Amino acid sequence: MSNHSNIKNLLLLFIFLNSNVQILLAQNPEKCATVSVAKRLADENPALIDIRKQYEKDIQQWIENNKSLRLSEDQEAIKTIPVVVHVVYKNTTENISNSVITSQLNVLNKDFRKLNTDMVPSSHPFYTIAGDAGIEFCLASVDPSGNPTSGITRTSTTVSRFSDDEKVKSSATGGANAWDTKKYLNLWVCDLGSSLLGYATFPDLNAFPSVDGVVIGYQYFGLSGTIGGANNLGRTATHEIGHWLDLYHIWGDEPDCDADDEVTDTPKQAGENYSCPAASNGFATDACTGSNPGIMYQNYMDYTDDACMSIFTNGQICRMKAVLNTTRTGLFTGVRCSGTTAVNTSIADKIRIYPNPVNHYISIEGLPQTKQPYFNVTFINMLGKVIYTTQFSYKDALLELGDLNTGTYIMTISNDDFYTTQKITVVK
Ligand SMILES: [Zn+2]
Repeated sequence: MSNHSNIKNLLLLFIFLNSNVQILLAQNPEKCATVSVAKRLADENPALIDIRKQYEKDIQQWIENNKSLRLSEDQEAIKTIPVVVHVVYKNTTENISNSVITSQLNVLNKDFRKLNTDMVPSSHPFYTIAGDAGIEFCLASVDPSGNPTSGITRTSTTVSRFSDDEKVKSSATGGANAWDTKKYLNLWVCDLGSSLLGYATFPDLNAFPSVDGVVIGYQYFGLSGTIGGANNLGRTATHEIGHWLDLYHIWGDEPDCDADDEVTDTPKQAGENYSCPAASNGFATDACTGSNPGIMYQNYMDYTDDACMSIFTNGQICRMKAVLNTTRTGLFTGVRCSGTTAVNTSIADKIRIYPNPVNHYISIEGLPQTKQPYFNVTFINMLGKVIYTTQFSYKDALLELGDLNTGTYIMTISNDDFYTTQKITVVK
């Protein structure tokens, strides 16, 4: 962290610098409304300012206490966040398909694990700063009442367009109510117009459970094709969930070189970047850096096009891990991604995974034909740790589990078009 004794309170700064910010926003489109929403919520609920200060202290303390953790050791402890997607639609275009939702989960599971294939090349100076956050996402298979679910809710609305307020988060105002925000990441997908891509709440909004979560325009959710323009690769969710895990914009949200994002390994930069500012060597500079490799426009927390962003840094990952170990620990109290579910529940009924409990070999039958000819399989233990991964290329598979210890695991089977989970018990 850049300066422990002088931790910046972004919300207060925004109050003081509001006039400058308004000028900045007038010149450039506000792709993400997270910071302005945080300012408004703090204006409406002054208690949030103290809550935020306390949360920042908790985060810094956790980072201080855990700085001796070697990243390689910490990477073993994969944390899986249960997700509910609330689709709030007025027409069929806004009622995005299950496969688009699955594609979004797959993007998140690549971006937060440094498995994305568009990473900067290994020769680039930023390559070694980029890290694996060790965070994965699953569509919830158990709802707040303990019933099986696909992890997707669909709500027809008469509202033509939502904005950066809380209306989409309440059935009373044409939206969908949140599921317990301490236990689930709530993602609302709706019409936000064409210029606003999305907004999130910082972790202090955990104190206001009905609004804690992320809202994303339907055009920008998942692999959305031409409808999403240059924001069609699912990176809006990556960016907004970064905020939800307490990351700031990489330029520090002020148009100068003093502002910082409270992360030491991201270079200072004067402002946000649009499009893709890369020179052919992958470097770009601005008023703050002035020399190569310059600014990190490839960071998920900039405003660049989806195809141009590919990095969370180790410093950013440290902040996110601190949040998951302090303010957002409720996400991991209990297993909410278990049982047989698929994004298409009619498919889930046809899948046969047996025997269960299993001793050595397990059969998987009835998987749908998908564009991708293979499926990825992951076994996660009850501590959230990935124990075993494999891939199979056949419609019906026989997996050998002889090396797995006795115990209960969550098995996920997925590819770009498909996702399902099943609780598996291994006996010897
Ligand atoms: Zn943002």
